[in-house]
This record gives sequence, C-alpha cells and structure tokens, in this order.
Amino acid sequence: MERILNYIDGKWCEPSEGKWIDNYQPATGKVYSQIPDSGADDVEKAYQAARGAFKSWAGSKSNIRFKWLLKLSQAIEKNLEAYAAAESKDNGKPVSLATAVDIPRAVSNFEFFAAAATQFASESHYTEGLGINYTTRRPIGVVGCISPWNLPLYLFSWKIAPALAAGNTVVAKPSEITPMTAYLLSKSAMEIGFPAGVLNIVHGLGARAGDAICRHPKIKAISFTGGTETGKRIVESAGTQFKKLSLELGGKNPNVIFADCDFDDMLKVTLRSSFANQGQICLCGSRILVEESIAEKFIAAFTEKVSKMKVGDPAKPETKMGAVVSKPHMEKILSYIDLAKEEGGKVKCGGHQVKLEGDLAEGYYIAPTVITGLDQTCRTNQEEIFGPVVTIDTFKTEAEAIEKANATTYGLASTIWTANLKRAHRVAGEIEAGIVWVNCWLERDLRTPFGGIKSSGVGREGGFEAMKFFTEPKNICINYES
Ligand code: NAD
Repeated sequence: MERILNYIDGKWCEPSEGKWIDNYQPATGKVYSQIPDSGADDVEKAYQAARGAFKSWAGSKSNIRFKWLLKLSQAIEKNLEAYAAAESKDNGKPVSLATAVDIPRAVSNFEFFAAAATQFASESHYTEGLGINYTTRRPIGVVGCISPWNLPLYLFSWKIAPALAAGNTVVAKPSEITPMTAYLLSKSAMEIGFPAGVLNIVHGLGARAGDAICRHPKIKAISFTGGTETGKRIVESAGTQFKKLSLELGGKNPNVIFADCDFDDMLKVTLRSSFANQGQICLCGSRILVEESIAEKFIAAFTEKVSKMKVGDPAKPETKMGAVVSKPHMEKILSYIDLAKEEGGKVKCGGHQVKLEGDLAEGYYIAPTVITGLDQTCRTNQEEIFGPVVTIDTFKTEAEAIEKANATTYGLASTIWTANLKRAHRVAGEIEAGIVWVNCWLERDLRTPFGGIKSSGVGREGGFEAMKFFTEPKNICINYES
C-alpha cells in the first residue's frame, strides 16, 4: 500500500513518531494509502527548514520567484491527467470535474501568483509641508497554510502560491482526508528541483499537525480554509499570539430567484450551483429562495431535472455526481435529511443513500436531494450541511427576499437571478455576503477579493489582497520640507 510522505527541506520524511493514518477511497469505502500522523516534532522540523530557506527566498528577485512558480504550474499541467485521476480517487469527485476545474485551477493559481510576484507594488504618499511617506511590504517570514478536503489541490495552491510569490517560506498542511494531490505536488517540486525548504508539506490530523502549526510561536501568519468551528479554534491557538490570520470558513449561501429572470439559464446554472462536487463547494447555493409567482413552475422543473441526475463511479468520464468525501460526512448529510423531515420538510426528490454495485458497493453515495416546506429559522436552513441537499423557500417581495437571504449567521456568497438591472444592484448591495453573483455562479476572476463576512470568515484572498495578507506593511516617513 502506498505511503504518502512529508516533504521537508526538499526531502521525503517519515513521521517522527512512526505513526500512520489510513486514507480511504470514497468511491469504494476502502483504505488505499496511508499518510503520516505528524505531530509537533515534524512541524518543528518543517519550520526549521523554512526558516533556513527564508533569507535567500525572500531576498531573491521577483523574477526568480516568478520562474519557480511558473515551473511548478507547468509541472502540474504536464501531469494534469494523473493529478485529476488522483484527486477523483482521493475525494470521490467526478474525474471530469477534477480534469476541467480542480487541476486547471491549481495550474492557474501558480501561474497567476507567479505573475503577481512581478506586479505587486507598494504605495507612497506625499504629505504637504513635510515630505513623503512610503510603505514597504516585506514578506512575513515562515507562514502556515492549512486547507480543507473539498477542493484539495485547488485551495492548497490558492494559499501556497501567494505566500511564496510574496517571498515567504511555507509550512503547509492539506486535509488528512484528501492528501494525495499535495503529495503529488511535492513530487513535482522535487522533480523540478524547487529550492529546498521554501515549501514544506506536513501531513496529519488537524488537531495534531494543524494545531502545532497554529501554535508554533515563530510561524507568523496562518492562512486557513475550513469549517467555522475549526476557525474558532484557530483564533484561540493562533489569534491569541497576535498572528496574522486569514480565515475562510463555512457558508449557507442563498440563491435568490426573481420571476423576471431568464428561466432556462437560471435553471441550468442552479443545477450546478446546487450540486456541483456533490454540493461540497463552500460557494454552493444551498438555500434556494424563489419568487412565489414562479415557485410552482420552478419546483416542478428543478425536481424533474434533479431526479434524473445519476450518481455513479467518479472514475468514469461520463459521471456528473460522484461520492461524498467520507463515511462520517455521508452520515452527517443523511442525519440532516432526517432532521429536515423532523422539522416538517417535504423531500421532493432524493433524500437517501445510493447503493452502487460491485467494488463500489461500500462507497459513499447520496442522491441529490431537494426539500421544500421549511422556513429560514429551522436548523436545516441555519446549519451548513455541505452535501447534495438544497432547500427551496419562497418570497413575495424584494424586501422579503433580502430578509430571508440574510437570515443566517453566515455571509460567504450569494446568487441573484433577475433581468431588472436596478433590482440586481439594489439586492446585491443589501445582501450580507463577501461575494455576489448576478445571473451567473462561480465565475472567478483571480484578481477579485474572495472571502466572507459574519461566521464565514475574516480577511480576503485573491489578487493583491492575498499579496497584502502575506506581507507586512511598514510606513517610513521622511521629512525634507520642514
Ligand atoms: P475542517 O475545518 O474540518 O478542516 C480544514 C483543515 O483544518 C484540515 O486540513 C484540518 O486537518 C485542519 N484542522 C482541523 N482542526 C484543526 C485545528 N484545531 N487546528 C489547525 N488545523 C485544523 O474543514 P473541512 O471539513 O476539511 O472542510 C469543510 C469546510 O470548509 C466547510 O465548512 C466549508 O464551507 C469550508 N470551506 C470554506 C471555503 C471558503 O473559501 N470560505 C472553501 C472551502 C471549504
């Protein structure tokens, strides 16, 4: 059985305590590899390597960092198929999705931030009667990057790339549930001779390896994507040391559909925004709010299409809905479907586990599920399910739509469907979310600020926001006029 290894100081390392964790394949429910159960000693080793490499990496010219990040991006692109197959096997997502979205996005992340390294600049301010204030932005030092399982390499690289582009060295930990493509990344880094110690990847559990990164007194910033509860723990472990924190957390995103929208377009995209990656994207619109006058038509058309969505083997190119990521996660999703029924919800379609045949019989499959009849105050509509489950509620007026859209503690993303330009701007302005899509979903320009408000997080990623997060500004004031 393959054993994934830590990548520290440009070398493979076994976990210092010799302990390993089983890694499951969601499609089959079987263990297919093992990962290091790393602890504080392994993190310390990674920190020392990163500290040793910092001076030369931070002091290198931006075009050197540009070239290395570009090489990394090309190394992934060259092996795109192998990366996509590994992502699908490790996560349960359709290989078609990993091929079209996850891996190309990881390629773009390195490419985009390679360029950012050469484009990033700082400001200066002329002060009348005094002289000039100029701001330097230097890399922070050794930074920690911790990512979740839903978009494994996509989000891992989304953190690592800007951290490195800005001149930091990195101790990174992917999710223990989906470690494989981070391991492939370390293989690619080795193959291209990426400078030792600049990027260090430590595998292991959140509560051990992740916690050790957050608590390490010399790791000065933590970029984290994951659940809101974990975010709170990181505030306690790292925030109390006044580390810089970027926290990208959970969501319960509204998808607000007005009667005047382009119905066909909306329907097509709403199927994706509800169920892409088995609903396991933080940006999925899990609360559909539809204007009452078209609710009946929408529910009929939507459930008809959803009930035809086939759940199947993620490795087959034609599969659109694969497995959810783990057995505990499948059980959590099913328990929320039970809760929805207890709360008075009507399951319009799906609502159950799907049993496939042969090797896939023990896999973690759930039928895409549509639930109606629940108001926004119930737990089903308040808590993040993070699976192929959406609820549909109705509204009569624009004000009611906004009230319902904002009725959770989360504030990550939202979608608005309307042909009315004025309304689109009005509602977009009122919705409590860091990201609003109008008549589209998950369109990403990597320059734009990405992140949430309320319980969905603190800080923004993307473009120069990320470059700013990964640098420390210092203002220098020069008096030459008084
Ligand atoms: P999680 O919080 O369980 O784990 C995320 C990462 O944190 C993993 O690498 C884990 O090992 C690590 N971790 C866990 N406990 C830790 C601790 N005490 N200290 C340090 N690290 C720790 O989240 P998950 O289940 O992997 O991912 C799903 C969640 O991620 C959902 O809530 C989803 O909405 C969220 N998410 C948010 C975004 C966003 O951009 N806002 C994007 C993707 C996923």
